Amino acid sequence: MENNFVFMFDQSESGMKELLGGKGANLAEMTRIGLPVPYGFTITTAACNAYYDAEKVISPEVESQVLQSLQVLEEKTDKKLGNPTNPLLVSVRSGAVHSMPGMMDTVLNLGMNDETVKGMAELTNNARFAYDSYRRFIQMFGNVVLDIENYFFEQQLEEIREEKGYQSDTELTAEDWKEVIEAFKSIVLKNTKRSFPQDPKEQLFLTIQAVFDSWNNKRAILYRRLHQIPGHLGTAVNIQSMVFGNMGEDSGTGVAFTRNPSTGESKLYGEYLINAQGEDVVAGIRTPQPIATLKDEMPDVYQQLVNTCQLLEDHYKDMQDIEFTVERGKLFILQTRTGKRTAQAAIRIAVEMVKEKIMDQREALLRVDPDQLNQLLHHRIDPEYKREKLAAGLPASPGAATGQVVFDADEADKLSKEGKKVILVRPETTPDDIHGIVAAQATVTSRGGMTSHAAVVARGMGKACICGCDSLKIHLDSKQFAVGDTTVNQGEIITIDGSTGEIFLGEIPMIEPELSDEFQLLLRWADEERKIGVRANADNPTDAAKALEFGAGGIGLCRTEHMFMDASRIPTVQSMILSETTTERKESLDQLLPMQQQDFEQIFETMQGHPITIRLLDPPLHEFMPDKEELLVDVTKLQITSPDSNELQEKQTLLRKVRLLEESNPMLGLRGCRLGMIHPEIYEMQILAIFQAMSNVMKKGITVKPEIMIPLVSHVNELKEMRELVIRISQHVQTETGLAFDYLIGTMIETPRAALTADQIAEEADFFSFGTNDLTQTTFGFSRDDAEGKFLQHYVDSDVLKRNPFVSLDQDGVGKLVENGVKLGKATNPALKTGICGEHGGEKESIQFCFDLGLEYVSCSPFRVPSARLAAAQSTIRSERKKSRKEPQYS
Ligand code: ADP
Ligand code: MG
Ligand code: MG
Repeated sequence: MENNFVFMFDQSESGMKELLGGKGANLAEMTRIGLPVPYGFTITTAACNAYYDAEKVISPEVESQVLQSLQVLEEKTDKKLGNPTNPLLVSVRSGAVHSMPGMMDTVLNLGMNDETVKGMAELTNNARFAYDSYRRFIQMFGNVVLDIENYFFEQQLEEIREEKGYQSDTELTAEDWKEVIEAFKSIVLKNTKRSFPQDPKEQLFLTIQAVFDSWNNKRAILYRRLHQIPGHLGTAVNIQSMVFGNMGEDSGTGVAFTRNPSTGESKLYGEYLINAQGEDVVAGIRTPQPIATLKDEMPDVYQQLVNTCQLLEDHYKDMQDIEFTVERGKLFILQTRTGKRTAQAAIRIAVEMVKEKIMDQREALLRVDPDQLNQLLHHRIDPEYKREKLAAGLPASPGAATGQVVFDADEADKLSKEGKKVILVRPETTPDDIHGIVAAQATVTSRGGMTSHAAVVARGMGKACICGCDSLKIHLDSKQFAVGDTTVNQGEIITIDGSTGEIFLGEIPMIEPELSDEFQLLLRWADEERKIGVRANADNPTDAAKALEFGAGGIGLCRTEHMFMDASRIPTVQSMILSETTTERKESLDQLLPMQQQDFEQIFETMQGHPITIRLLDPPLHEFMPDKEELLVDVTKLQITSPDSNELQEKQTLLRKVRLLEESNPMLGLRGCRLGMIHPEIYEMQILAIFQAMSNVMKKGITVKPEIMIPLVSHVNELKEMRELVIRISQHVQTETGLAFDYLIGTMIETPRAALTADQIAEEADFFSFGTNDLTQTTFGFSRDDAEGKFLQHYVDSDVLKRNPFVSLDQDGVGKLVENGVKLGKATNPALKTGICGEHGGEKESIQFCFDLGLEYVSCSPFRVPSARLAAAQSTIRSERKKSRKEPQYS
């Protein structure tokens, strides 16, 4: 059929969802499998798009196809639209490809007019029902098609109810409804300057047009933006003969889920209302009843419903969300779709459906959204005790926490050592505050975005964090913050929810994270399927243990700078940095060596032979130094109070040195391997610590597999020099201990030049780890903090960029460099191991991309490991399915 814009429910074939929309496709499917679906037809999304292309005109072609289909419907139902003695009534229902619940419009009882209402009254022998249905139609049509605010109708109805002294709508008689109808018609006349259209065909086409238009109402546009649904898809329109749940006590309407959408329990779940139509259940005018009582009220219908739900679930092989109506004891199904569910329910349903043999493990793995899993790994506020929030910021790191407010990191550290639970509240955080973030249950900042320092660090540690809560006015001097006229002092208890960004006064009970048996089982299935490794970023033994617990196969990034940040070490680190001579520097390094060595020993022991990628020192040195501005204030104060003091002299010297370290662009300055090139003694100490730790742990009979990673290489010669350094020291330790080390040397690919010359670099590297955080910064030329603070949101909002490239890997640009890097690298060094670290390593689309490029592993923060394991399995399954579809099929 050429240009078919309309399909009868029994005429289309499976797999036409793009054209018929979700609702239409499922109505057709249900019709074909013989379920009691009121008959009808679907006008395709292509017709909607043609409508928009023609500047919002329904083409004669579409019009005539609609009229033809209407005729088929009339024959099949043995009724006629507009026929006074035997009228057909229809619903006109929107239905896009992606379900957009409640975003677009639906009109019921179309075909009602002054004549047909009489026919309906006679036919059903129920005048009250007929006039009630007519007034509903005027109201819905008035609202949806004629754009009259529903409020006018509701107010009018209320007035009449009061006048008659009625409590509820059920008391209105047929005569009362007639009065309401006249009043409603006046509302239409007053608001549109024309009378309510009596011609059912005119009603029909006006409504079709209104449904097309609703594709572009504000709500729908916003919803699409939020869910990344393209705007060009358009909506289909379903025209369906009406069935009536409002015909009396043997009728009703309801919603059912085939399983509990909140817990996943395999038990029918839902609500219904007797003697009601469509939207009454959601409208909240009457309280619906739980589905279980239907069993007593209408046992036959209930049994039919149970059977139908079973059938639909078996057919779609997924939990279904079903709309049904009962007309005089007969059940009709009006809609089915895949039901939305919590993470907990998603897992339970997937696992149980495999046990019930509804699907296999691979299918079950595809059914759970990896993003959702994070919900389950953190404490949550018990919803039963939730109260009004004090303020809200950005939900920077999920999880909930309660504690007393503190305003500085040292205080947080001190109190937590005393066993107190604290929440660190800061205008923003710097690396100096890390110990405070570690000590606190959660961190709140009034400035900064989702990827500000506090947020990144907190997420990495799996600690709750709220950022950019600008309604908090923080007064560090008086140790208090204010929100409006509420003031909170240091020591007062607050509760925060990092998943929503909400802050509450006082304590709210928590629910423990649920690592249910089903969850563990699903992840084991994922491990069986996935062909890409998942490692974790972990800098200390605690995180390393967490990583293993969550199923990481190793550490993909162990940052050594955090080992310098410990409050007790900072002075030594600072004197190391401030040393005037190499000898002086070596003295401080000698003090740091045993500390680092001990850190490594602990991590090696924890990891029990799993590989560990250790990155040598990376950040610019000034990050370890006191804040310049604070020093300046101190110096100025001391100049007034004690101008001759030693303290002043010391601070002045310190200030001078801090100024010397200052760089105009630290991100591109003396950092990464450049530190090792200029101050090799720093890297020497770290390498020595690694190998001495390695030999000590090996002596205990534990396998150790370090992979030493040189950061920020942009030229092969840098790596060459650093590699020689590593080899020299390892040989030294091996000779000394008589042990033979098994280890790798590699580099982080995080500058475009490194990716472009990966063939040269690979000759000096055993592995590449793509540091896509910095690679994104250096490829875009964006400094992340500035970008996220100043313009990135605008870029995403205005579609300049589809997504934040720091969250989801920019496949077109940064991805090309990664692809190129892998290809070039493997060309000169086929044994080269490749992986990715950086926040993209835990994001599902980036994981799919890495898998397709053939990377050996992804690495992400320990708390994202479970979700990455699932995403990795999904990538493997999807890619294999795609491949098998491409291969020729022989039967
Ligand atoms: P939404 O997409 O907002 O759920 P629907 O098109 O599903 O809108 O319509 C809302 C409700 O209207 C349905 O749940 C159903 O109760 C009622 N309805 C729609 N079509 C019919 C019909 N042909 N007969 C009876 N009720 C209907
Ligand atoms: Mg619906
Ligand atoms: Mg980097």
